[in-house]
Amino acid sequence: MSRLLTDLPQPAALAALDARSVIVQPVGALEQHGAHLPLSTDLVIPEEIGRRGVERAVTQGVDAWLLPPLAASKSDEHHWAPGTIWLEAQTLWRTLVDVGRSVAATPARTLVFLNGHGGNSALLQVVNREIRRRFGLKTFSMGTGTQRAGGGGGDGPDEHGMGIHAGHSETSLMLALRPEMVDMSRAVRNVPEHIAEFATIGFNGSPVSFGWTSDDFGPSGVIGDATGANAAYGRELVEEGTAFVATALVEISRFEHAR
Ligand SMILES: [Zn+2]
Repeated sequence: MSRLLTDLPQPAALAALDARSVIVQPVGALEQHGAHLPLSTDLVIPEEIGRRGVERAVTQGVDAWLLPPLAASKSDEHHWAPGTIWLEAQTLWRTLVDVGRSVAATPARTLVFLNGHGGNSALLQVVNREIRRRFGLKTFSMGTGTQRAGGGGGDGPDEHGMGIHAGHSETSLMLALRPEMVDMSRAVRNVPEHIAEFATIGFNGSPVSFGWTSDDFGPSGVIGDATGANAAYGRELVEEGTAFVATALVEISRFEHAR
């Protein structure tokens, strides 16, 4: 049975939900992913991992429901590449607050943003609190759990923790999920290795962050090394992501701020 809430008529959707229900809103992105991956890479991944994770969580007793993914989000770091369809931070903010308001009108009291694009992470953390304060929902944001090395990504061989965009893990995931959309003959390595010498400054997870756009690191649009990507590794990540999402939803379903 589909767990896509919007497959139901409105009265049936209303009847299906109660205060224990967990609504999962995947947040995708439409942005350049080099010459070898589709613009929809960051839409496909949270949609696929979200569906698998929600279905598994249901088998573990969670009343989880999916909304269709938001396709476009805050991809301003890829603004320089036409074909990228991006929202300003303020636009995404207002869109997510409106989703929160809409979910709060249902019997469900829990909203989870399942994020497929790292550029949204900071905003999602802030909007969690806004929606909680304004509408009283329990709110959560999470990634897809498909990148090793501490959530920020960069798990491929010799990526130095910087395989954050169209690199080893994303390319492997797409080889597992949408092989017909991947052109490995155009896969490249583009790792800004000089940044690895800085102890405090870096990408996600470093104590000092920095402003960047993806063309700061060269014209390919890739940040990472896609050349060794393979479907077998991608299938491992799909399973890890599915298990992560299911486990997180089980915890979210029993989370209380106070007891
Ligand atoms: Zn991506």
